[in-house]
Amino acid sequence: MTFERETVKHPFALRHLTVSAVSHPTPSIARITLTGDELDGFVSGGPTDHVKVFFPDPATGILTPPTVTADGFKRAGDSKVIYRDYTPLGFRSDGVRHELDLDFVAHGDEGVASAWAAHASVGDPIMIAGPRGSRFLPQGATHVILIADETALPSASRWIDMLPTSVRITALFDVADESMEAYFSDELKARMTAQWFYRREGLGQLDAALRSLGEIGESTFVFMAGEAATLVPLRRYLRRELGLPKKQVTADGYWRRGVANADHHAPLDPTDPDE
Ligand SMILES: Cc1cc2nc3c(=O)[nH]c(=O)nc-3n(C[C@H](O)[C@H](O)[C@H](O)COP(=O)(O)OP(=O)(O)OC[C@H]3O[C@@H](n4cnc5c(N)ncnc54)[C@H](O)[C@@H]3O)c2cc1C
Repeated sequence: MTFERETVKHPFALRHLTVSAVSHPTPSIARITLTGDELDGFVSGGPTDHVKVFFPDPATGILTPPTVTADGFKRAGDSKVIYRDYTPLGFRSDGVRHELDLDFVAHGDEGVASAWAAHASVGDPIMIAGPRGSRFLPQGATHVILIADETALPSASRWIDMLPTSVRITALFDVADESMEAYFSDELKARMTAQWFYRREGLGQLDAALRSLGEIGESTFVFMAGEAATLVPLRRYLRRELGLPKKQVTADGYWRRGVANADHHAPLDPTDPDE
């Protein structure tokens, strides 16, 4: 069993776009549709792809573009360049008009991205870059376990949409409350066996739910993403207690409580030399 995930690189492009629609699949998710000629050639082929979204400075309203280099864009040194990572949920193009959907979790006005999405309206300008590349589905998996909080529901959607129907999908969702269950279409719901856990009923439910799944077969692939510290005990259980190999488990800290613009490339569990 390889779980090999082919990767492809995409040419770097900074795209100037405008908001063409705003909707709310659930009360706490703002679905922002972006459009613009510069979406011509946009490609996203993997379930974990992400784009960098560049936001106006909330203090001045000025949207500062990043400095583009041969390798992409320069991250450090210019505090006016404000960006966060988002999952390209859906892309449509008839060759003339192109539309990209991004889902933003609304978690208040403390976050630049969350605040921008909460107040976004048709015609607002925005810039995106990426995805820099796509990682395709793991080869050979017959069962996929998805573990996600609200920020990773777009990625979970893409997994469910892309996986062949021969692959069984088990999902554990860690969300604020029942309103999030409206997130998936009936078609996607029918593809998975899902359990929903509400954070107001306490933490640690995911850990117990994962353990209660029992043995993780050798052709089962696990993808988990969400708040970084929440994922640590889950990853430890799978990697240390069950001894699953690295390639069988992907854990990505999409955000970190108390940290603005957390770096998801930083080790999730710094105590693990195998990170
Ligand atoms: C590969 C990847 C894909 C992602 N895809 C998505 C996506 O499709 N949709 C999505 O909504 N997010 C997604 N995220 C997560 C998103 O980038 C972060 O939540 C980001 O920090 C939000 O930026 P902000 O400006 O709103 O908050 P920040 O300025 O980064 O943070 C301000 C404060 O808010 C807290 N915070 C950040 N996010 C949340 C949250 N979701 N809930 C509660 N508190 C929070 C921080 O801990 C901090 O205290 C993705 C992240 C990665 C790495």
